[in-house]
Amino acid sequence: MSLEKYRKKRNFTRTPEPEGEATETNRCIYVIQEHHASHLHWDLRLEANGVLKSWALPKDPPREVGVRRLAVPFEDHPIEYADFEGKIAEGQYGTGQVTIWDRGTYEPVFFGDDKIVVNIDGNKLKGKYCLIKSKFQGRDGWLLFKMKQ
Ligand code: MN
Repeated sequence: MSLEKYRKKRNFTRTPEPEGEATETNRCIYVIQEHHASHLHWDLRLEANGVLKSWALPKDPPREVGVRRLAVPFEDHPIEYADFEGKIAEGQYGTGQVTIWDRGTYEPVFFGDDKIVVNIDGNKLKGKYCLIKSKFQGRDGWLLFKMKQ
């Protein structure tokens, strides 16, 4: 895992976002940030191998079984990003306000390259969730949904 892509997109003299290092924590951090960028979206992040694997959800995260959401993969973010809230300035990558929508930990059930199953223990999301690589309305992406226990 590398933060090269993450760093290339940002100018750390102009954004309050953390530059960060890949850091092993074994805490299994789970966080979703609400991001008021040009299009409102929610960024789901799961700690894996010293970074936060990241997906952008164009619609609000699914709280109930039966709701499927597109999850577009984005570059790995540093662990410190799990605590980030703030305003990304005009003209910078991801311009807009970022707030933490939910956070907690997860327990990995299955962690593969194109399928991930996790037990999420957050304040808003709780229970078993599946992320699976899939075509969604003709686009390459992932699907996120809550599973029956
Ligand atoms: Mn975002």
